[in-house]
Amino acid sequence: MIDLKSLLSSLDIKADWVGLRAVKEQITTRCARNGNLDPLTIEQDQGIMVEVLVNGQFAYAGTGDISVEGVKKAAKCARDQATKLHKFQLYPFDDSLRPPSKGSYLSVARSLLDPSKAHSLNDLAIELSLRLKVSDKIINTEATLMSIEKDMSFVSSNGANFSQTFHQRGVQLLATAQEGSTIQTRTNGFPAAVAQGGDEFFAADYLRQNAQQIAEEAIELTHAEECPTGIFDVLLMPDQLYLQIHESIGHPLELDRILGDERNYAGWSFVKPEDFGQLVYGSELLNITFDPTVPGELASYGYDDTGAPAERHYLIQDGILKRGLGGLESQKRSNIPGVSSARATSWNRPPIDRMGNINMEPGSTPLAGMISATERGILMKTNKSWSIDDYRNKFQFGCEYAQLIENGKITKTLKNPNYRGITTPFWHGLKMVGDRSTYEVQGAFYCGKGEPNQVIRVGHAMPACLFTHVEVFGGGV
Ligand SMILES: [Zn+2]
Repeated sequence: MIDLKSLLSSLDIKADWVGLRAVKEQITTRCARNGNLDPLTIEQDQGIMVEVLVNGQFAYAGTGDISVEGVKKAAKCARDQATKLHKFQLYPFDDSLRPPSKGSYLSVARSLLDPSKAHSLNDLAIELSLRLKVSDKIINTEATLMSIEKDMSFVSSNGANFSQTFHQRGVQLLATAQEGSTIQTRTNGFPAAVAQGGDEFFAADYLRQNAQQIAEEAIELTHAEECPTGIFDVLLMPDQLYLQIHESIGHPLELDRILGDERNYAGWSFVKPEDFGQLVYGSELLNITFDPTVPGELASYGYDDTGAPAERHYLIQDGILKRGLGGLESQKRSNIPGVSSARATSWNRPPIDRMGNINMEPGSTPLAGMISATERGILMKTNKSWSIDDYRNKFQFGCEYAQLIENGKITKTLKNPNYRGITTPFWHGLKMVGDRSTYEVQGAFYCGKGEPNQVIRVGHAMPACLFTHVEVFGGGV
């Protein structure tokens, strides 16, 4: 364990504020294909980010050399950067944007693997990949178990001192079926099947059942009809809706996009600063929260990477846009209310405006109620493909599996379902919101943003939802 406080006191540097953020992470990936275990992958990373504030200008330097000399060198580099950047200063900041938070955060984890029993997870991956082969029509199977252990700690010259320990898990199950020239793949929605927690996430009985269902559905799809083209009501299950929320609500509400910082990297937004507090983003059933306080959700934390304490807030309430996804710096620059979402992917990146847990609040209709209320609709589940423009406005999604709903009943399975739309008209078409029984806590392991790129883990929890008047089409994409 690095003694960050004594490292900080050893720095002899002229700055108005200094912060040190240490990160240590290990990612273990176990993948079995068709009963054979791939070589185990273990990625380890450790380093320290030195951040300084000089004459209102923040600057950074990261180092993988965590010795006193290494950190001193990085601190000098950060100070030199701050001095050089001063003439380009966008806004004069002060140390109130780095709150002096103290405390700790620990992921809820019921069971953490004894390293001497690691082979039991290898055996589980092999078993699951074999169970996915429910018939000779299954031509490929994969089972991947990912375990992430991450520690971060932060100290600063204005008194911050906090540490956070994260245990994160993910499972991907995949089965590909072939019938003649038709090939179809079903998965369990990875990267949706992710959470904070211990190895209880790898509950063998649940995963065995899941494997059976996925494989049977892959075979079912090989003799399913093609999804029709036309205007339908669409019932989106949580493992598709999470990405709809991510791409058409999460990204466009990032304040740095709205401020223009991200424009040269496919990152603009149709949302304007004056929209906050008044834009009717969707129907009055639409309620979206930023909530880093949900135990077990992938992006729960105690503090963001600037030290802002984690708090739940409505981003959209009863359809009205309330807040943006922006940390303290963007809030100060834009004068728009934000959240504690300044996050860095690791020690070698500065915090930028990100999603955390972006959740849709459940409604009151059970799944059966949404199906029986649909005259001509299509239920879609599990994201397969996505595309959305720079402004986060026009989008197109493909799913793995669909069912036709006629006169309130599911009548047949459909393959290759897709739908397209425009962000606010689509959310205005939100007609029914599923109740707690349809609610699932999921997330994404790989949300990319920024230059240099930062890939970060985000959580999404949501019920199933019914949308009216959606443009649907079939075919591979
Ligand atoms: Zn993303």
